[in-house]
Amino acid sequence: DSAAADRTVDSVCPYCGVGCQLTYHVKDDAILHVSGRDGPSNQNRLCVKGRFGFDYPRHAARLTAPLIRRPGVPKGLDPDFDPADPSTHFREASWEEALDAAAGGLTALKAAHGPKALAGFGSAKCSNEEAWLFQKLVRTGFGSNNVDHCTRLCHASSVAALMECLGSGAVTASFMQALEADVVILTGCNPAVNHPVAATYFKQAARRGTRLIILDPRGQVLDAYASLSVRFTPGADVALFNAMLNVIVAEELYDDAYIAEHTEGFEALKASVVDMTPEAMSELCGVAPETIRDIARRYATAERAMIFWGMGISQHTHGTDNARCLISLALACGQTGRPGTGLHPLRGQNNVQGASDAGLIPMVLPDYQPVGDAQLRAAFEELWATPLDDQPGLTVVEIMGAIHAGEIRGMLIQGENPAMSDPDLHHARGALARLEHLVVQDLFVTETAQFADVILPASAWPEKDGTVTNTNRQVQLGRAAVALPFDARPDWWILQEIARRFGLAWDYAHPREVFAEMKLGMASLDHISWARLEREGSVTYPCPADDTPGADVVFHDAFPRQGGRARFSPTRPLPPDEPVDAAYPTVLTTGRQLEHWHTGSMTRRSRVLDALEPEAVASLSPGELDRLGVAPGAPLTITTRRGTITLRSLSDPAMPDGMVFVPFCYAEAAANLLTNPALDPYGKIPEFKYAACRLSRA
Ligand code: SF4
Repeated sequence: DSAAADRTVDSVCPYCGVGCQLTYHVKDDAILHVSGRDGPSNQNRLCVKGRFGFDYPRHAARLTAPLIRRPGVPKGLDPDFDPADPSTHFREASWEEALDAAAGGLTALKAAHGPKALAGFGSAKCSNEEAWLFQKLVRTGFGSNNVDHCTRLCHASSVAALMECLGSGAVTASFMQALEADVVILTGCNPAVNHPVAATYFKQAARRGTRLIILDPRGQVLDAYASLSVRFTPGADVALFNAMLNVIVAEELYDDAYIAEHTEGFEALKASVVDMTPEAMSELCGVAPETIRDIARRYATAERAMIFWGMGISQHTHGTDNARCLISLALACGQTGRPGTGLHPLRGQNNVQGASDAGLIPMVLPDYQPVGDAQLRAAFEELWATPLDDQPGLTVVEIMGAIHAGEIRGMLIQGENPAMSDPDLHHARGALARLEHLVVQDLFVTETAQFADVILPASAWPEKDGTVTNTNRQVQLGRAAVALPFDARPDWWILQEIARRFGLAWDYAHPREVFAEMKLGMASLDHISWARLEREGSVTYPCPADDTPGADVVFHDAFPRQGGRARFSPTRPLPPDEPVDAAYPTVLTTGRQLEHWHTGSMTRRSRVLDALEPEAVASLSPGELDRLGVAPGAPLTITTRRGTITLRSLSDPAMPDGMVFVPFCYAEAAANLLTNPALDPYGKIPEFKYAACRLSRA
């Protein structure tokens, strides 16, 4: 009842990278309800998560005090453990004792085994300031670059390709630019589920005459708005895109003037695609040659065209090649740098762009400055008055391997849940159990926290002030709406207390002081101040002046590479790491659901969202269910070379035959027990979108 609220607080949604602005309606320090605000990326709209997923901070299982593992209790997932009553496995401790234990265990391991025995996972669910402090703690306190976060599991391959080819890992244009485009390609993404408010812009664009082209192995809601929907063979993206490039080269549909002025390497690209004709690639990608020609012509001849992609592109062992192909399409056709043109990897978490910008990445310092560049590193050494490691650190999946190898012995994990989100969970959970000292800061005793030695109760998004950066490069201000409950503390405060126990002289009193320090090391924040964000709510980077809203479309004149030119990067089709075979004949793919967020630690504790989607289901085509003799709704067992889960089946006509989709948020049927940890060699991202599996009636 909005009339009952005694105050309102303007903030940003804590879930996806769309970054919808919202207003909390608060009474007696409780959020009564949430309404959409007229933000630049949502214009008052919210999806079901933003509207109803705000009660998780007051869930009965919320941590009330710091916890220390009881002696002799084994680490790991115990089916009898009740997160709402952790006293069976952990005892409560004062903050002083818990922080001393948390930092003491880590400093002892560093002293005994050196800085590279430690690692940290920060969180894209936290603010930019918390991401900055986290990576600063690892780099200046732990003493290495072993710091990463969930970008490694979502768009690391897209960023690798964008950095290589354009010199910048962020989007070249916002999704609102779809309204200006004549043609929009959506590939490997399902915006109506994963970026729901962005999907409303695509629908609006289609109604205004933009021709949507959807390329994906699965069908989706937006097919109803598309002028062309093409389903291709899972894992055959590179074959399809190179065949499109072949058509563009063969029919001379490319933009000569643009290529000459803004790019390098086009001749090599032309030579590389010469044999990848639509006829040659058709069988591989499952698309008829004339359809491939049609898609290529529509894109290349459009006055203004954009490409959007999601994790169907990035989460492959050839994810970087997929993104390289999409970049080549845009460069060949001159489809960047103008309104209604561009390349846009739809970012997942609400702050995965900002957390990456702030340096939660093992090979680069903030603003993507390579750790191996002595001059760039020196600037941070001066800013932080500490020598820094010049070697890139390990990535998310590599860290799990290094734990098994006995190289990494202690970790700090903030708000991430690798015991659910990492591929091949038996391996990942085995690694977490092997750690000699694990500190977790979170809201709940998550699956990962069940492996911890010390658990520190942290802050939920509606309880903190901080900035976040959405998929459009819009830096936005989130504001605390309610007080921290029980003995929970702000994440930045927890990091500062650990840093002090590493001997670091940190003395921040508020996140705005951290933001001020970030501006000293991050040119991307030029002309964006905390005061300005308090006033305006949102500013896009790069921003050329204090009185402009920032650049919605970038790279009109030059790319941020030496010489100002973008680069074509040729590719060849590669098979998935684990192709289907007689023993494992079905493709397993995983992802999110509309109602649930990532590993479900927040949304499964939101009453309405949990009621809407309470149970794990596996989606299959009606034909596939018939073939298996499984009635829709009946239980089904899925087995890969790494594990087995059993869950209810769902008949879904959008699924192709030969494929099953499983959401990864359900601990009781954890999809990642099945997934393949094989990595893309450039982005080091695992192949979540393709594993060979076997289905059977349960
Ligand atoms: Fe939140 Fe994303 Fe939904 Fe917007 S579209 S309300 S940011 S989850």
